[in-house]
Amino acid sequence: MKGTVTIITGGSQGIGRGIAEFLAEKDGDIAIFDIVDGEDVVSSIRNKGRKAEFFQVDVTDFLVVGQAVNNVLNRMGRIDSLVNNAGIAIDKLLLRMKEEDWDRVIQVNLKSAFNCTKAVIRHMLKTGGSIVNISSITGVMGNAGQSNYAASKAGLIGFTKSIAKEYGERGIRVNAIAPGYIKTRMTESLDDKTKEEMLKAIPLRRFGEPLDIAHVVYFLLSEYGNYITGEVINVNGGLYM
Ligand code: NDP
Repeated sequence: MKGTVTIITGGSQGIGRGIAEFLAEKDGDIAIFDIVDGEDVVSSIRNKGRKAEFFQVDVTDFLVVGQAVNNVLNRMGRIDSLVNNAGIAIDKLLLRMKEEDWDRVIQVNLKSAFNCTKAVIRHMLKTGGSIVNISSITGVMGNAGQSNYAASKAGLIGFTKSIAKEYGERGIRVNAIAPGYIKTRMTESLDDKTKEEMLKAIPLRRFGEPLDIAHVVYFLLSEYGNYITGEVINVNGGLYM
């Protein structure tokens, strides 16, 4: 990753932060797009001797994303990779789900990937590049109470394969990762009984860490993933296989 610049959405905390820190350890430079302040992760990366910049960006806003991508090019000089990681969950059974719950989750989890990918692709057409979309086990197998989230994450998989087909010949690779249960703020609110039952269903008998996802992102973005595109990699301890 030496000297490369990767944009990571939702990179101020959780899985995104784990990805940012690990890519920096592999000598990559990082641009964080998040609505939550990312100065903490930026200073941690700078302490590792790499370049890092934080951009306050709501990834649902097409125009703001376009401007932020231009700012990355101006301040960091290049964009090699994009990780569409920002995401939210508003879990409810369909009968209780409001229209705004559906719309918000689709906007943040799926429309954001359109916004960010469209903004970087024109640049990547000249240079080549690699994109990783963070989908979910829920997008692959569905989950009661998460129809909006599952639809957004399944949508990301269709988006991944389509863009991989559109731009493979231009040297742009696009892949998705479908994480299982990863220990972050998003999952810590689940009740103990649910966590216990889930643990029993995971053959590796542990929940994932952000680093488990970061390792696979690195694999896909680096030269090790050079002949892989349009793929969805399950990283879930065997919860779904
Ligand atoms: P976190 O909530 O810990 O981190 C997500 C980050 O994205 C937060 O900083 C969040 O800010 C930010 N964000 C939310 N909305 C926007 C927006 N509109 N614009 C910019 N940034 C935004 O989540 P995780 O690290 O757990 O999840 C990361 C990704 O991984 C998500 O796409 C999630 O769906 C996916 N995933 C997570 C799994 C898990 O078990 N944790 C399992 C499978 C997939 P804020 O705090 O304000 O919301």
